[in-house]
Amino acid sequence: MDCLFCKIIDGDIPSTKVYEDDFVFAFKDIAPIAPFHCLIIPKVHISGADQITAENSEVIGKVFEAAAKIAKQEGIESFRIINNCGDDAGQTVKHIHFHMLAGVKMGWGPESLGKTE
Ligand code: AMP
Ligand code: ZN
Repeated sequence: MDCLFCKIIDGDIPSTKVYEDDFVFAFKDIAPIAPFHCLIIPKVHISGADQITAENSEVIGKVFEAAAKIAKQEGIESFRIINNCGDDAGQTVKHIHFHMLAGVKMGWGPESLGKTE
């Protein structure tokens, strides 16, 4: 399968690893939008949040377990997790991933959606 994030998990494409266990891999986003910005991904290929089922959903809990561990590891007290699903939401890589953002006071509201046209 020609998947960028599967290649990162396999080490075929280099990344800056933040955390890894049997289920998930986390690495620094190449174009950070916050002082701390990593991507947490399941090792199993799931193309997007719209493909989560009763059979594969357990790993999503592992993603959030990893986020809590990463927060402790990095000394992060506040963080935001974002998942984009589908083109209109801005999903550019079709391997489910969770942005973990920290290190800045974040706003909340319609403006946080950015440009919508
Ligand atoms: P999304 O727009 O939600 O699909 O997020 C994809 C993210 O992957 C973006 O924030 C990109 O900056 C990031 N990205 C793309 N290629 C790489 C890469 N080779 N290493 C690390 N992050 C990447
Ligand atoms: Zn993949």
